[in-house]
Amino acid sequence: MNLLEVRNKSWMNFVSGEWLPSTELIDIENPATGQVIASVAAASEVEVSRAVAGARACVATGALTRCRPAVRAEMMMRIASEIRDRVADGAYVGCLESGKPLKAARAEFEEAARYFEYYAGMADKIEGTAIPLGDAYLDYTIREPYGISVQVVPWNFAPSICARSLAPALAAGNAVIVKSPELTPLATIILFEAIERAGVPKGAVNLLCGLGKTTGAALVSHPDIDQIVFTGSVQTGVSIMKAAAERSVPCVMELGGKSAGIVFADANLDQVVESVRSGTFYNAGQVCSALSRLVVHASIYDVVVEQVSAMARTLKVGDGLVGAEMGPVVSEHQLRKIESVCDRAKTAGARLVTGGQRLQDKAGWFMQPTVFADVAPNMEIAQEEIFGPVLSIIKFDKDDEAFDIANGTRFGLVSGVFTQRLDTALKAPPRLNAGQVFINEWFAGGIETPFGGNRMSGHGREKGQEAIESYVRTKNVAISLAV
Ligand code: NAD
Repeated sequence: MNLLEVRNKSWMNFVSGEWLPSTELIDIENPATGQVIASVAAASEVEVSRAVAGARACVATGALTRCRPAVRAEMMMRIASEIRDRVADGAYVGCLESGKPLKAARAEFEEAARYFEYYAGMADKIEGTAIPLGDAYLDYTIREPYGISVQVVPWNFAPSICARSLAPALAAGNAVIVKSPELTPLATIILFEAIERAGVPKGAVNLLCGLGKTTGAALVSHPDIDQIVFTGSVQTGVSIMKAAAERSVPCVMELGGKSAGIVFADANLDQVVESVRSGTFYNAGQVCSALSRLVVHASIYDVVVEQVSAMARTLKVGDGLVGAEMGPVVSEHQLRKIESVCDRAKTAGARLVTGGQRLQDKAGWFMQPTVFADVAPNMEIAQEEIFGPVLSIIKFDKDDEAFDIANGTRFGLVSGVFTQRLDTALKAPPRLNAGQVFINEWFAGGIETPFGGNRMSGHGREKGQEAIESYVRTKNVAISLAV
């Protein structure tokens, strides 16, 4: 695709096997230039109801559940193959709408294919158990899909987060309705074009675009859905959970984070610097599991501040289409929010070492890679998710203090530890209140490893074999053998 094709294309909703236009359109801009690049059809309540009715019809036919599970596995492999065929388009469009480096957008679209390959391998291995009850009974369990899984996706990695939930849900036999993010819906539409080409039962997968407060709200409050999988901010997640509780709709919640890496005195500092490069600045810091706090032992504090800041100053910030290491943040609104947090951090007494404001010489929404030192654990900048390229460095003396600081926010998504001692590394995970712990490399792991949050970071797990558990429920069958 090229820019003209992106501009001229009708970006639509996919409902029950049909692409539906809308009279209401949402403009999509390129954050690297601030220019509108496309308009997407916003789904109204009518399309929401059509999508739910189509998904319900699919559930009722048993198209996904009465077949031999290997048929679903083959469907998933076809989807993966079609996604791989569209990697160039998906990456280009993803880069345009989010500003991220083309290489990262490509990796993300390929990752979407990987999710379908990985869960294809599980589609025919979702098994129940037989429970011994003596001679008089036969008892067994069935692990059934929920029915209609509604999945709300955020803008930071839209195609890969979409696939992260959609693939295991489909492997387990659920019909799925995805709500794409309003700021970056285009690459997900390419993903659905690939899914359509692969051939799926009518109503098995549906895509609705539109605003959260209208399309999203109508979808999650629809009376005929069976599950909600929400990935996004704490605020939206909590409001969805409250509404879901009224109807007893089960939820998987993948929410925000304020993750800390503890740097012990014996840490390998090259590993620390490389982890900050990716952990703090990848995707311009717009990552739920970003390394946003570095908790550093006093004996190496000054040298860590200096090395990390020196690396941040070398990062090439610019348009993701032309080889930048770090692109813009997603919108002007987001950029303003990040700048304000930095201003308040300075007022609160944190020491700005580098960055702290937007890049003045560029048209788009570019934030400087930013490092604050001498941050107190209770400052706003150390407590609230920023979702931008900003690192807070905090000093500690005693190990207990480091764990208290790492655990001392309302979140619990990720924690990290940097040490060369095996005993220090292995003692840390039980003491960290987080869904995953990285040791000596931020973002270590992959689609094969379970991912999710504790506390306000959410509940339920995505990724890995464990994610299947989020998409099935157990039914027990007890048979009396008495004659
Ligand atoms: P957001 O909560 O503003 O929006 C997320 C999605 O919810 C969007 O599709 C939006 O349209 C929709 N939405 C908004 N209001 C809604 C409503 N009332 N009803 C239904 N849907 C609604 O979040 P965001 O700004 O898009 O994403 C950033 C947040 O997502 C950050 O907090 C980040 O940490 C979190 N996130 C978490 C994970 C994870 O796996 N834990 C992954 C990525 C992002």
